[in-house]
Amino acid sequence: MAGIYVHIPFCKSRCIYCDFYSTPYTDRIDEYINTVLREAETRREELTEPVTTVYFGGGTPSQLSTPQLTRLITGLRERVNLSQVEEFTVEVNPDDITTEWVEAAVAAGVNRVSMGVQSFNDNELLFMRRRHNAAEAIAAVHTIQRAGVSNMSIDLIYSIPGQTIESWRETIATALMLNVQHISAYELSYERGTELSRQAMLGQFEPIEEDTTIQMYHTLASELAAAGFEHYEVSNFAKPGFRSRHNSAYWQRVPYLGLGAAAHSFNGRRRSYNPDRFDAYITAIETFGKAYKLEPQFTREEKYDEMIFLGLRTIDGLDLRSVSRRFGKSNAERIKRLIQPFIASGDAVLDSCFLRLTEKGLLLSDTIIRELMADDDFE
Ligand code: SF4
Repeated sequence: MAGIYVHIPFCKSRCIYCDFYSTPYTDRIDEYINTVLREAETRREELTEPVTTVYFGGGTPSQLSTPQLTRLITGLRERVNLSQVEEFTVEVNPDDITTEWVEAAVAAGVNRVSMGVQSFNDNELLFMRRRHNAAEAIAAVHTIQRAGVSNMSIDLIYSIPGQTIESWRETIATALMLNVQHISAYELSYERGTELSRQAMLGQFEPIEEDTTIQMYHTLASELAAAGFEHYEVSNFAKPGFRSRHNSAYWQRVPYLGLGAAAHSFNGRRRSYNPDRFDAYITAIETFGKAYKLEPQFTREEKYDEMIFLGLRTIDGLDLRSVSRRFGKSNAERIKRLIQPFIASGDAVLDSCFLRLTEKGLLLSDTIIRELMADDDFE
């Protein structure tokens, strides 16, 4: 199996925390669609296995008009065999949603929608410079569900300056009331070069204390567990049967083809990436039909680190027999030795040959993973 990711890099304005690649050139969407379809045509032979998941991410894919979205999906189908696709996700923003748009997406084959909501509190949304308010987000979820989408995910953010445990609880309660099948929740991160980091440096707001952030995480985990959600990855929660297949495939190193500016690909052995500048991407595809550059080959240590990182992110855990097969028994034993303090503190469990982080441990996943990564004693 394989996946296709299409990056749609258009955003009307920039949210305060965002460092994803996006551009405001919405007048060039048609040109961009032509270019992505050209890239699909020249790179389709890289797909050596049936495509089972498709993901349109951004930026904001819902910035495409209804005819543009239909043209992109139809064009992709004409170039790549999508007959075995089980999950077709499109990311949307609440302010773009209309019944006509969602119905066209469903008619074209979309069966999962992922909406960037981030909060159901208007002050928090305003602070983050989101382009919608809470009522619009709720109305958009209803519109999508009425149009026949029964697999819906929403993104939420916690640790927003000004946010309280109470307002976070209310956001979670509203999300649960909306009867969505999947929730991704992220701690607000201060990426370099963002407006959020600039304001933080100038001391324009009071960041949330670490203890409060931890409390928010535990509130999230316990309320979603009580509502029947499975915490299957550090930031992802799903009702039974509704894990994101596309993202799960990334964590299982399933190959995927990334189309569009800033898209990444993985062919099962090497990773590659497209330019993250709009004109550089368009020019390269027009000239060569391809725009990607190969990432350097992973060293043995980097492959080991990647295996630990991907394994411990999900509740499926890290299979120490596979570590032993790929990197030798002594390196699997090394992990068993280094994880002992985290097992003692209740942050990890070793269950037969599988090492997993507990609910408590998932919050510390970065620290634990760093501790296990290849070091002087790696053989
Ligand atoms: S809509 Fe998404 S991609 Fe666009 S600026 Fe906001 S967070 Fe970034």
